Amino acid sequence: MAQIRKILLASSNEHKRHEFSQLFSDYEILLPSDLGLSFDCEENGETFLDNALIKANALYDKAESLGIPVMADDSGLIVPALPGLLGVRTARFGSEDGSPLLSAHEKNQLLIRMLEGKPEQDREAVFVCAIVMILDRNRIYCAVENAPGRILHEEAKGTGGFGYDPVFHCNEAGCSMALLPDGQKNLYSHRGKAARSILKLIKE
Ligand code: IMP
Repeated sequence: MAQIRKILLASSNEHKRHEFSQLFSDYEILLPSDLGLSFDCEENGETFLDNALIKANALYDKAESLGIPVMADDSGLIVPALPGLLGVRTARFGSEDGSPLLSAHEKNQLLIRMLEGKPEQDREAVFVCAIVMILDRNRIYCAVENAPGRILHEEAKGTGGFGYDPVFHCNEAGCSMALLPDGQKNLYSHRGKAARSILKLIKE
């Protein structure tokens, strides 16, 4: 296949660009706005993979003529003891009634309160990330990966990571995700693992 140099990411978020630039360090990560494209699409899938495919296809429809591979991701937290509240709705946790989104700290505090007094096994949780890369209409790579862990009783003090990291104990790292510097978090995280799977496929 032709050498890939640039990847167009289905996002308008600079934080995502930064993260993916670290994970895909041999490639230039572009956002649609860099190419004068507007990109917004409804993520109404039932799974992380559905949503990543929806986003990747929507952007590819607009950008196909540019000949740049398109990548999209979707991720979140699953807590089996809280069915329906997180998963593909992780970003909207606590705002199910359509009220404004809570801050990361507010979501973490809500999660801690909802699990208070419940048996230890109800704290089991898993971060999941789906990444889809469209090279052309007939060559599409997908990876879904996870990072197993449990919800802590309080937020960890570390400054690493974002979102739910302070309340998530990563089993493989043996500590809260928020205590890991970026490079190390990528070794254990759902996103780092999914990115490495995609990298293997495109570097073959
Ligand atoms: P998105 O797919 O990046 O939009 O993430 C959806 C939701 O999952 C957001 O609320 C994020 O804060 C949360 N999330 C996804 N990945 C992580 C992570 O690595 N750490 C903490 N929170 C995450």
